[in-house]
Amino acid sequence: MKLLKIVSLLSALTLAVGALSAKPIAGPKGGRILTTEAPHVEFFVEKDRTVAVTFYDAALKPVPPGVQVISVVAEAKSGKAQFALEKSATGFVSKQPLPEGDDYTVVVQVRDAAGAKPKNYRVLFHDEICKECKRAEYACVCDDAGHEAHKK
Ligand SMILES: [Zn+2]
Repeated sequence: MKLLKIVSLLSALTLAVGALSAKPIAGPKGGRILTTEAPHVEFFVEKDRTVAVTFYDAALKPVPPGVQVISVVAEAKSGKAQFALEKSATGFVSKQPLPEGDDYTVVVQVRDAAGAKPKNYRVLFHDEICKECKRAEYACVCDDAGHEAHKK
């Protein structure tokens, strides 16, 4: 019974991925663009593993943060860690680094204003470098065909 459940979950996931197979937008900082429409939100992990969230207009020019409220939850194997982000000149930055390791989900929660309904964006955090696009794997912009090529 358990196995059946997993199989149906997997096929549901495959369908969801197929529907979202449009080529991702490359984040100007080297991070992942979470949004499909402007204002764009980029999730970027700095060298010291702190998180930077940057806003861009439709032409991918950085725009100063407005009244948005951002929070980040890292669902690391060591446990969930919630990050409060602080406003910077270009967006938001975290004070703490991401938990050790990778291969875990980071949820970026964006509220257009305090008290607004949050939008959750999930990023599977992998920090190795993609051979094809030379970006960190979590921000890889290769299409599905590229990923198939990696496996061969
Ligand atoms: Zn890639």
